Amino acid sequence: METLVLAEHDGKTLRRGTLCALTVARDLASRSGSKPVILLLGRELAAVRDDARRFGDVVVADHSLLARPTAERYAAVIADIIRAQGVRELVAAASTFSRDILPRVAAVVDAAMGGDVTACAAAEAERVELQRPIHAGAAMASFVLHGTPQIITVRAAAFPSAKPLPESEATCCLDWPLNADALPDRTEFVGLESRSTNRPELGEARVVVSGGRPLRSSEEFQAFVGGLADALQGAAGCTRALVDAGIAPNEWQVGQTGKVVSPELYVALGISGSVQHLAGMKNSRVIVAVNTDPDAPIFSLANYGLVGDLREIVPQLVRALAR
Ligand SMILES: Cc1cc2nc3c(=O)[nH]c(=O)nc-3n(C[C@H](O)[C@H](O)[C@H](O)COP(=O)(O)OP(=O)(O)OC[C@H]3O[C@@H](n4cnc5c(N)ncnc54)[C@H](O)[C@@H]3O)c2cc1C
Repeated sequence: METLVLAEHDGKTLRRGTLCALTVARDLASRSGSKPVILLLGRELAAVRDDARRFGDVVVADHSLLARPTAERYAAVIADIIRAQGVRELVAAASTFSRDILPRVAAVVDAAMGGDVTACAAAEAERVELQRPIHAGAAMASFVLHGTPQIITVRAAAFPSAKPLPESEATCCLDWPLNADALPDRTEFVGLESRSTNRPELGEARVVVSGGRPLRSSEEFQAFVGGLADALQGAAGCTRALVDAGIAPNEWQVGQTGKVVSPELYVALGISGSVQHLAGMKNSRVIVAVNTDPDAPIFSLANYGLVGDLREIVPQLVRALAR
């Protein structure tokens, strides 16, 4: 078990970010002719275990004490596995989940860690060359991790999703024996507050429709941004202007201090194109901007620009899509 991928899942399937991390892990593992192993933590994991086995061997820590991802418990289990199995590198998607857990793991097992990585090359044994954006994407930093173990989180947008293995390739599953009494218990999960939505998760969506300052209420946001997002089966995002105004929740903010997305299609409605917003979406494959100001900076990045009032243009787009 030289290369491990820490999986994020919804109890049934692996998240897209994990499949992108798996692409990197396969590449790293291939230098020693090995294959990465997917690590699942949580409770009642039978369904997601079957999904994960389509992609490789799996190690499962399934226990009621892991039902919620409290960082201290998850980190303790992951550190145990790294030590016991002599794991050389652990790869995961860069996300709130991994940001919470993996720095603790790195501290416990004394690992070299690189986060938010967008390019990764295994130069030689125990030496990996990485790149990551810095200064809100204005510059790229190149750096090298030495020794073992190494922990790497990758921006999903920068790597393709791993494909399942051929059906003829058998995979195995190891149930990790958990010593429940030894698990840390100083952090208690109390509750989770989040807005339920039928839309895809912002960081993983193929289409993102975002709105900016001209939207003056949650109702307007839902009508224009939500309406077009639903017509395109995409996720809804926003600028910080709307979060600061209490019109959209923090978890929908795209940008330097929000989420970094790179969908196949990004639609910017009434967004000027500040550097902080661009830092979160400029790697989208196709960018469409709707703005009343023909000189708005967003147009210098957009592949398609519509000069006009979003309140007139969006309903026309939704009607055209419905046809
Ligand atoms: C440290 C720091 C971090 C930040 N992090 C982020 C971040 O992560 N994400 C982020 O988004 N911002 C961030 N910001 C804020 C950022 O600087 C901008 O203030 C913000 O992105 C502007 O949002 P906006 O484009 O919605 O608003 P504005 O810049 O006000 O632009 C509104 C646009 O809408 C157009 N418009 C007006 N009416 C219409 C209409 N009816 N139809 C179509 N177009 C119309 C206007 O022409 C204008 O171009 C950060 C700022 C700081 C200082």
